[in-house]
Amino acid sequence: MKITVTSGKGGTGKTLISTSLALSLSKKYPTTYIDLDVEEPNGYIFIKPDIQKKEPITLPFPKVDYDKCNFCGVCQEVCAYNAIAVLSFNNEVKIFPELCKSCGNCVLNCPEKAMFEVPREIGTLTYGKRENLKFFEGKLNISEVTTTSAIRIVKKKSLEDIRDGEILIYDSPPGASCPMVEASKGGDYIILITEPTPFGLFDLRIAVGVVKGLNKKFGVIINKEMEGFDELYEYLKKENIKVLLKIPFERRIAESYSKGKTLSEIDKEWEDIFLNLYNQILEEVND
Ligand code: SF4
Ligand code: SF4
Repeated sequence: MKITVTSGKGGTGKTLISTSLALSLSKKYPTTYIDLDVEEPNGYIFIKPDIQKKEPITLPFPKVDYDKCNFCGVCQEVCAYNAIAVLSFNNEVKIFPELCKSCGNCVLNCPEKAMFEVPREIGTLTYGKRENLKFFEGKLNISEVTTTSAIRIVKKKSLEDIRDGEILIYDSPPGASCPMVEASKGGDYIILITEPTPFGLFDLRIAVGVVKGLNKKFGVIINKEMEGFDELYEYLKKENIKVLLKIPFERRIAESYSKGKTLSEIDKEWEDIFLNLYNQILEEVND
């Protein structure tokens, strides 16, 4: 079972909820938590895993064999991302790593077979463990913009060596653009986290549109639940969107959150609440 936890905007408690869910489920099932918020991963603060190994995340990057290149300019023409400049006056083919999407088009189309690929490091993948819970974290290097590719690689790695009945919890980047879509693709269920505020509702509407476009089963968790903003409930009712759980707006949760504690570490009963939540999801997925 693959569950993506996401939110239309940052700061909604997505990581608190995904780590609390993962840790609670790991008491009963083989579970893996995967931090796909590669620009700013912070799940480790809550999971506190024993780190087992780190390895570079790499993408293929074109390189030129100047013994074969005749500076014809074809690679520059076929690059849709303007990542190549052929400077024939200078006998140089300049390739800009920050623009290259590693699509391989230039290598494929070079008439002289003068291009080949080498690995380019874009970030780090960290593996860890906490009791029955496996931990993966993808982290992009500073100034890297290859977010979606990094997410794809980390997801692929998380599927190697999975245990029987494994539950994978993907902690998605916030927002509703390509990285969130990549984190949600191929999964069984999406949990959207929101807050009962006008900003929360605005972003939730956008995220719901994206999730519906992906044709996935999904439900909503309302974090910092409090009275006084009925528009959220009216919207959820009108759109027939399932509210999976409400997490109250409580000072002790906020304080514990700032100390990196998961909900079940604040109050053991959250373990059962998240196990029940998983059973609801299971029923819906199998329906
Ligand atoms: S397409 Fe090949 S031969 Fe032509 S400029 Fe690029 S690398 Fe050189
Ligand atoms: S791999 Fe793709 S994006 Fe990168 S330089 Fe070649 S054609 Fe451009």
